[in-house]
Amino acid sequence: MNEDRCIKCGSCTRACPVLNDPLGPGFPGPRGAGVDAPRFPERDSIGQIALMCTMCHACEWACPSGISLTLSMLRLRSGLNEADRLPGHRRMMDNIASCGRTVSTEFKGWREEGNRTLYFPGCIGLGRLTHLTEAASSLLTALGVSHDISSAAVCCGSPLLKIGATGVAEDLRRRNMEVFSRYDRVITSCPGCTNQLREVYGIRAEHMVEVLKGSDPRSKLDGRWALQVPCHLKRGLSPWAADDMASVLVAAGVDVVRVPGEDCCCGGGGGMLAGFPETSSSIARNKVQMYRSTGVDGIITACPFCSLNLGRQGIRVLDIGEALAPKR
Ligand code: SF4
Ligand code: SF4
Repeated sequence: MNEDRCIKCGSCTRACPVLNDPLGPGFPGPRGAGVDAPRFPERDSIGQIALMCTMCHACEWACPSGISLTLSMLRLRSGLNEADRLPGHRRMMDNIASCGRTVSTEFKGWREEGNRTLYFPGCIGLGRLTHLTEAASSLLTALGVSHDISSAAVCCGSPLLKIGATGVAEDLRRRNMEVFSRYDRVITSCPGCTNQLREVYGIRAEHMVEVLKGSDPRSKLDGRWALQVPCHLKRGLSPWAADDMASVLVAAGVDVVRVPGEDCCCGGGGGMLAGFPETSSSIARNKVQMYRSTGVDGIITACPFCSLNLGRQGIRVLDIGEALAPKR
């Protein structure tokens, strides 16, 4: 068993944004939930508490024994039953049943023109942050990437896996595969979607940061901007994500300020935003305080969940697609 390699060093515990938040002590932490609960299921039935993790992968990166702590957490979640579902996660499931996405869809600018590239904004980009989707689409057009935005594509299923709804996630995958078969290229703005499409669908999806690396966009953005480096970009897609984001923005003319902690979790992932909104907000609030202390004008990120969760704390947050879009 992978978990048996634990040497009880505590590195994972020190790295955990939930456990180290003032509103996170109800969570047993990566060692309690990711190592002990799977090893002693008869002793530790942690139930809903298994859902109190942002899936940021910081524990896994810190672990000298290479234990797959987030995978362990996902396994615990897939064993939960319907009665364990949190109210916010029930709402996500209801939305999936009614519109195929975890939040209600507000986006109206579908593009179904038979292009060979699909831009896949994800549920938050189509529901809560439609301005992000419009900006990213106009940026792709300015870069010469003709693309569709398909109304037939549904949630990628990543948020469903995170809340233990594996059957529903598989159903969504089947629906999407039919849509994706019409395209040669899929581009996303959400690193959670990118990882899901790569790891679960077996599609070589590209994140917007990867598209921008090979392009030459320009920005008229004034002011000094810090980065929020998304967990699923850095610890999912590329360990060089922070430098990639910074170099694309600097080359475009943006004044980027690198701050310690830019790659720490915003608190919004893993189903936390819907499941434990108070803890999620508390983690975001503390991060925003850190950014404010540096005197920056705002934050640039590359994940709709980071945009949403940090933006709710009253600081200006732009997605990288918005920062570089021809019109904002
Ligand atoms: S994935 Fe992140 S939030 Fe979850 S236990 Fe590990 S460090 Fe904590
Ligand atoms: S970092 Fe790894 S080895 Fe250390 S306590 Fe955590 S799980 Fe165990």
